[in-house]
Amino acid sequence: MNIHEYQARNLLSEYDISVPKGEVAEDIDQAICIYRKLNNKRAVIKAQVHSGGRGKAGGVRIAENEDDVSRICSEMFGRRLITKQTGKEGKVIEKVLLCEASSIDKELYFALTVDRSSESVTMIVSPMGGVDIEEVSATAPNEIGKIIISTEAGMKDYQAYSAASFLGLNSKQTKVFCRICRNTYRLFIEKDCSLIEMNPLAVSGDELIPVDIKINFDDNGLFRHPEIVELKDEHQENEREAEAFRSNVTYVALDGNIGCLVNGAGLAMATMDAIALHGGKPANFLDIGGGASAKRVEDALRIILMDRNVKGIIINIFGGITSCVSIAEGIVEAVKAVDISVPLVVRLEGNGAKEGKELLERSPIRMTMARSMDCAAIKMIEMLKEMEQ
Ligand code: GDP
Ligand code: MN
Repeated sequence: MNIHEYQARNLLSEYDISVPKGEVAEDIDQAICIYRKLNNKRAVIKAQVHSGGRGKAGGVRIAENEDDVSRICSEMFGRRLITKQTGKEGKVIEKVLLCEASSIDKELYFALTVDRSSESVTMIVSPMGGVDIEEVSATAPNEIGKIIISTEAGMKDYQAYSAASFLGLNSKQTKVFCRICRNTYRLFIEKDCSLIEMNPLAVSGDELIPVDIKINFDDNGLFRHPEIVELKDEHQENEREAEAFRSNVTYVALDGNIGCLVNGAGLAMATMDAIALHGGKPANFLDIGGGASAKRVEDALRIILMDRNVKGIIINIFGGITSCVSIAEGIVEAVKAVDISVPLVVRLEGNGAKEGKELLERSPIRMTMARSMDCAAIKMIEMLKEMEQ
């Protein structure tokens, strides 16, 4: 799960890391009030959208006076900001953050993230932070340092010192940096983060200022943090993904036309692979999870069909603890409740497959049964081709 920069700033403050003075505004009047509170100094106005690369897209602007504030805000509020990361649709700007502009000597990069290969939290730093960090990582990989943090031992001071020396910090800056490292690590662990990124972490004299902060959370840890779930901004998410989150269905929107309803993440990946192998394009990743109820199947079908690009649906179920019979009952009920006008291909295997198939065949639902995952993909792609002709 993603949160806004202004929310990430609040979390850093809770963990004793100071951030530039500033507040979030939802309209121009509020923005002007905040600007006055900042003592009418140079302010940065930052679009609050769930995306990086805002600077290059015109989403981070400097205001020198009140006129600038109202002009920039009127250009931002209600518009869609299209960055490298948002896709063509962009993300709508409903809030802006006004901050005292920091004077920056140098922009560093600092992040904590999970490194899957070492199964540990990893600190990533670079003396060449800023808006071109992706390019630095591609063209000057030596300018990027990685330090693996042991899960048992936690962040050690010597690791922070070694990062500070890689960043070329003086002794005062190093002291500030070590504090930032310690506190950020504590935040990362305590809140089940998957990423905390400061880019830039600005050098300003002997101070270090987190000018831009991004935090992501591990969805699997969210049940422990209702206070974090409250920060969710559904307007920034794909509508279907937000609906899936409410229905307890794991769903990722993609840009193909074959909807997939699958139980188990591995099987869902394999289904997408099978579709791609036979020349089709999946419209989504969807895992209804183990022990799925009829209601869950119905919700999943509804979410898949909210996507106008979907021209056919493959249901691929491997009955394990949940018998295919209850899934089949779920499908029958769901199809009754949700009006499905696109072709349906169903593959049931495993526990209760035979009975499940019989149940579906006796039902009035129009569908094609497939023997295997491959067959399901091939049949669906054939049907779509016929429909096109
Ligand atoms: P991003 O483009 O979404 O990563 O947004 P950032 O908040 O990182 O802003 C982009 C760039 O704008 C930064 O890398 C800085 O160069 C510049 N910038 C942002 N805030 C300030 C500030 O307070 N003072 C100065 N001098 N530059 C800033
Ligand atoms: Mn940034």
